Amino acid sequence: MNCSLFFRLLQLPFLLFLHIATIAQSADIILANGKIFTSDTNQLYVEALAIKGNKILAVGSNAAINKLATPKTNRIDLQGKTVVPGFNDAHDHLGWLSPIGIRFTYSEFNPSGLSKAAVLDSIARLVSIAKPNQWISGSIGTTILHDTSMRAALDRIAPNNPVVLQAWWGHGQVVNKKALVTSGLSDSDKDPVGGWYIRSDIGKINSIMENAQVPVWTTYFGSDYDGQIKGLQSYAQAQLRGGLTTVQQMSSNYKLEQSNRFFTDAKLPQRIRIIAWPRSTSSGRKLKDWDVKTNRLTTFVSISGIKYMIDGTPIEQNSMNKQSYKPGGTWYGRLNYPVDTITQILKEALTSNRQLMMHITGDSTMAIVLSLMKQLANGAVWQTKRVRIEHNSTPYITTAEVTAVKELGLLMMHTPKYCQTSPIRSLMEKGITVGISPDGTTNPFWDIMVITSQQTNPNENITREQAVIAYTKTNAYAEFKEKEKGTLAKGMLADLAVLSQDIFTIPTKQLPATQSVLTMVDGKIVYQNPQNMNTKK
Ligand SMILES: [Zn+2]
Repeated sequence: MNCSLFFRLLQLPFLLFLHIATIAQSADIILANGKIFTSDTNQLYVEALAIKGNKILAVGSNAAINKLATPKTNRIDLQGKTVVPGFNDAHDHLGWLSPIGIRFTYSEFNPSGLSKAAVLDSIARLVSIAKPNQWISGSIGTTILHDTSMRAALDRIAPNNPVVLQAWWGHGQVVNKKALVTSGLSDSDKDPVGGWYIRSDIGKINSIMENAQVPVWTTYFGSDYDGQIKGLQSYAQAQLRGGLTTVQQMSSNYKLEQSNRFFTDAKLPQRIRIIAWPRSTSSGRKLKDWDVKTNRLTTFVSISGIKYMIDGTPIEQNSMNKQSYKPGGTWYGRLNYPVDTITQILKEALTSNRQLMMHITGDSTMAIVLSLMKQLANGAVWQTKRVRIEHNSTPYITTAEVTAVKELGLLMMHTPKYCQTSPIRSLMEKGITVGISPDGTTNPFWDIMVITSQQTNPNENITREQAVIAYTKTNAYAEFKEKEKGTLAKGMLADLAVLSQDIFTIPTKQLPATQSVLTMVDGKIVYQNPQNMNTKK
């Protein structure tokens, strides 16, 4: 063997190593010349970003990132556009808007809703065109929900079709006999734990409240496979146009098996987190219904966490408050679950790895839950559980209670459309984690407008940067995924949105008109508006 060949052979492994290193450092996609907001407080803005496979390879200056390009790299010239991490819709009820059966709609909105005459007239018209057993539905307000003459009227005009009239805010419904029977319920049923029935004067179930609605929901939403799939897919497309790349699904309307079927078949382009929502009977919660064997359903769909509605809302006056609803009155609202069941729910949160989420809208409910939590474990233990309070709708929370929220590591999951009176900036400044639970949205920019400009106390408006961080990084933390997504940083999943306008500088009123012009999930472009975005190899 001559010497030079020997030395060349010696170099081979080194050259091979160099080659592998170059491949590892080569980008599949580069986004450059942009205003990229990372949600990563170490480096909030960068010019460029490189993606390899489904993850972010690097972020930095145009010059640094361009070094990672190869002839095969797909280069996207952002032309100054703003990029954000994909928004995380931390609280939604997917499928809720799916076209199931036939329904009446109306455009003029007021909380009390349509009159009895208008509702019955609409139902009669729908009955005349309905197929046998087809579900008939519509949205109602407070007037019909509390009208106990509805059951008899509905049974009379719709004897052969299940009818469900859903309160527009979700916490109650009016049904006919056919809907009850189809859902496996009967007039002789006792009130289930977590909800109750409002009966007609002859003892028939007229209205179904709170968690007692779940059997009707799962039957109604499970009745139309095609309608569900279509509804899920079209909502997903609308969410991609809003730059939403993750949805945390509160499973009020699907049982576990239904979730498995619909989310496997719908093949939605986003990451979906399915959150358990057990129904109950008079003898207790049906936890077996949500006996989750595997946490990962598909690449994009996982199951974790559990949600309970601990009280109602101020709309039907069931959220439980320290002050009576009418000055000098005796009605303060109520808890949906007895205190011993709430205690049991909290104990389960401590002994399992299932993250607990509680809908709480009353300040008295909040005080009770805080005191139970403190009795059961200390702050250090609770902090690891990241218990979530959905809606952050308790503006009259005391200073001592705010301290308890901090000590227990509770996540205040603020819903912009419900509670502009909440002191969100003060909570954040005290070190409390404030995330965003939109409760149904395709437009995160509207939420951002509200929390940055429309808080009742203007001092409580947060900055747009804080709002985006809450909607991305904090919401990922709220599902124990902050090490995988929510920031645009090296090693994180490549979920992002390129925006039609610079949401950090445009006038406030223009925020809701923002759209994503390119949405990416898992390193793949899943939505692109060709008018606004040109990508070229
Ligand atoms: Zn909700």
